[in-house]
Amino acid sequence: MSMKEFHLTEEEWRKKLTPQQYRVLREQGTEPAFQNEYWNKHEDGTYCCAGCGAELFRSAEKYDSGSGWPSFWEAIDRSKLALLEDRSHGMVRVEVRCARCGGHLGHLFDDGPNPTGERFCMNSASLEFQTGKEGE
Ligand code: FE
Repeated sequence: MSMKEFHLTEEEWRKKLTPQQYRVLREQGTEPAFQNEYWNKHEDGTYCCAGCGAELFRSAEKYDSGSGWPSFWEAIDRSKLALLEDRSHGMVRVEVRCARCGGHLGHLFDDGPNPTGERFCMNSASLEFQTGKEGE
């Protein structure tokens, strides 16, 4: 899947998204820890991109990282994600974007649990939860 296969103009994004979704997905914003929709959610389901609907993460790989943001130790399919170097705010981090629409999702850290040792630290505003196990 190529980067930005799902393309909208900035005006179309502003109409489609809530102001909070726009600030995070399109302006690389970060929502407050522990004050977002999914950080403490434990239901079975799939987390889709709030910009384009791509299925990105599952409850099966979600865990309590203590960060206050929804955290996953693996994605459904890493080819659906674009990883970019982010040197903003005086840090060097790995930014995670949706490969399909280019929307900012969060960051990837190397302090996650087994088996990957990685932590996909996402913004709830970038995701839309769909109840039920994958394929149902
Ligand atoms: Fe997307």
